[in-house]
Amino acid sequence: MLERIIYIIGGQVQGVGFRPFIFREAKRLGLTGFVQNTPEGVHIEVQGPPAAIASFASFNERLPPLARISRISQKNARVITAEKGFKILHSSEGSHKGHAVLVSPDVAPCANCLADMSDPCNRRFGYAFTNCTDCGPRYTITKSIPYDRPVTSMACFPLCRRCSEEYHSPSNRRFHAQPNACSECGPVLWLEKANSPSFARCGDKTCGIFPIRLVRYGVSSSDATGNDAILLLLQELRKGRIAAVKGLGGFHLVCDARNTDAIQRLRKRKHRPHKPLAVMTADIETAARLADIGPLGSNVRTLLESPSRPIVICPHSSLPRLLSPDTEDIGLMLPSTPLHHLLFHPEFCGGNAEDSLDCLVMTSGNPPGIPLCLGNREAKNKLAEIADLFLLHDRDIVIRADDSVIFPALPDAGLTSPSMVRRARGYTPVPALFPARASQKNNQSILGVGGELKNTFCLTRNREAFVSQHIGDLTTAESLKYYENTYSHLLALLEVTPQIVVRDLHPDYASTFFAKNLSSQLQIPLIALQHHAAHICAVMAEKKIARTVIGIALDGTGYGVDKTLWGGELLLVEPCRWHRIGRFTPILLPGGEAAIKSPWRIAEALWMQNDLHGHAPWHEGREESLPAIREMIAHGVNCPTSSSCGRLFDAVSALGGLCFDITYEGQAAIRLEQAQDVNEKGFYHMPIVQNDTLLEADVQTLFMQAAEDRDRPQIMASRFHKGLAKGLAEWACKASDIYRINEIVLAGGVFNNRSLLAETIRELSSHGLIAVTPSAFPFGDGALSLGQAFWGDMVLCSGECIATDS
Ligand SMILES: [Zn+2]
Ligand SMILES: [Zn+2]
Ligand SMILES: [Zn+2]
Repeated sequence: MLERIIYIIGGQVQGVGFRPFIFREAKRLGLTGFVQNTPEGVHIEVQGPPAAIASFASFNERLPPLARISRISQKNARVITAEKGFKILHSSEGSHKGHAVLVSPDVAPCANCLADMSDPCNRRFGYAFTNCTDCGPRYTITKSIPYDRPVTSMACFPLCRRCSEEYHSPSNRRFHAQPNACSECGPVLWLEKANSPSFARCGDKTCGIFPIRLVRYGVSSSDATGNDAILLLLQELRKGRIAAVKGLGGFHLVCDARNTDAIQRLRKRKHRPHKPLAVMTADIETAARLADIGPLGSNVRTLLESPSRPIVICPHSSLPRLLSPDTEDIGLMLPSTPLHHLLFHPEFCGGNAEDSLDCLVMTSGNPPGIPLCLGNREAKNKLAEIADLFLLHDRDIVIRADDSVIFPALPDAGLTSPSMVRRARGYTPVPALFPARASQKNNQSILGVGGELKNTFCLTRNREAFVSQHIGDLTTAESLKYYENTYSHLLALLEVTPQIVVRDLHPDYASTFFAKNLSSQLQIPLIALQHHAAHICAVMAEKKIARTVIGIALDGTGYGVDKTLWGGELLLVEPCRWHRIGRFTPILLPGGEAAIKSPWRIAEALWMQNDLHGHAPWHEGREESLPAIREMIAHGVNCPTSSSCGRLFDAVSALGGLCFDITYEGQAAIRLEQAQDVNEKGFYHMPIVQNDTLLEADVQTLFMQAAEDRDRPQIMASRFHKGLAKGLAEWACKASDIYRINEIVLAGGVFNNRSLLAETIRELSSHGLIAVTPSAFPFGDGALSLGQAFWGDMVLCSGECIATDS
């Protein structure tokens, strides 16, 4: 008596050792049949006695570490007589749409691979591209699906005999590990000086035969290759040099994190005077010495050690203040690739352990406003002014992915979940799942194109919403190109065609033009969703909320339906409808964009509007522009109004003399947050007044109180934060009473201010309201695309005819 069952498995099941795992399970139980990657998912057929088939059925309780099953179907099939053995078949080609395969994100090296690399008797001792089915690069080396070596950037590295044996041996941990490689057949490292003539090649289709490859690249004899390259690099880093190091999803700029001269030089060359720089530490013990990462089992440690290896923003850094001059926090991460591990372990490369550095600055390798460099030649050109040396290799990066950045949960402060700041490497392309809707069509796909700054886009496939990696500000031709490439890449991985495009209301965003073009090209509807409504929708999407909520959206600026700049908004968001029910009283931005760069202008405007004597504090060098600015304010010329909460933070920060001009986004607010006197119990009052149909939060009154304390900025900062949080809660209460809703969604980049967030959650709950906050996706504009796609999904499922905007 035999039975035969066919399974089709969807989810993260390709490139994660799933087929070998099924193979071993089937073998163990003496089953026959096969397993195969297909565009619909992993196809399994097993045949054997009913008892063995029944034991096999519980395989999903024993999955390999990276496998995630999102759907599974099974049916009985006719028994095949005289079938012999269990096989892993080649991936099937096919252009079927609506399949269920997910490519895994890139994963940090597993313990087994690290052990291989640190064992002098292992053939991968000190090999910088070691990986297995449980770890290694995935998303950033994969061009399309099904995930197999020929569609990755490993295609041009034919496996050597021993790697091939591993690859084909089902009992081996590297069985069907697509990026499998060793020093004999895999990618190689080399070091180049910035001024050496560049022969660094990438994407060279002819690079099949290893031993002559480097010669063909023209790497000169003075440059080091392989492990010598790492040793030489370390030598130079110890001297305070700056290097560009090719990583997984792009280049990092690297220097010794304890060398203030090197850090200073890096800041100068990168034109980045104050923005925090991330630091990679050798291991978790080093991280614990450099910042407060909490006790064993703390969320900070869990995040640091997670296979996604994000940059975790840790409190109380003991590293040079120059790394994050505006805050005591420091962004730490642990090594995310085998190459990073080697940078901290010269002893694995034939050097001395004592020569190692225990922490390195690792900041994105890109000139200002330009996306991460991808290719070797590109990096050598674009980073020539910044890096002294280049650690290069010949494995191509198919698509960029920046490091992800995350705030850990701080339970003591009332923040029970982490919050994502920048979602990219290690997280993309894991999807969010929309709530199931009866009317959801099969193979439904929606594109949310995102905003302008911190852009991402979101492409859906049925209920799954794939938010792209952080792309950045779409303000240069290069970043737009990156956007388009990433879109094509994700399209190829998902094999969907969007049926509807959702964009921001802003008429001039680059993403708006992209949406318009695509909509007319594909002849599909285009709808626009207001910026702050999209912020609230993003949280609803993450939390699978399909009912009406009250939302507080606080951010820099977003285009409003009245064509003014919004940014402190109280919204009622229903499925398919939203209403603005409140706002911050608008303030003036003298000079528009210039006011965003120079918060002292906004402080001056608020000062004048409230008829205060003299001037808001400003420092020397402002006298010249002051009369012109007062003109602007008095006559409303070149002086847009905005209900932005971000701008209010800017103004108060300038008022306290904490930040007059910013060098990076959010700087003034960060300084204000950091300035707080933790022992201060007082707070300002932010009145909530009914103004026509809107509940208006009176920020002018708040500002006036702050003005009284401007000579005591620590007290002022603290009272401001507390007062604002109390005001927000009162605002929400009023709306809650009117609409009988007690779920308050908090969204917008201002909530990256952790003390405001904690305070607001506390205040809301003391009024019996429930704060709903994002965790897996950012508070800021990185989540706009998710909100847009969610909105598109609701609109499409509502069956309402879609009014297309053009
Ligand atoms: Zn591994
Ligand atoms: Zn090999
Ligand atoms: Zn925003």
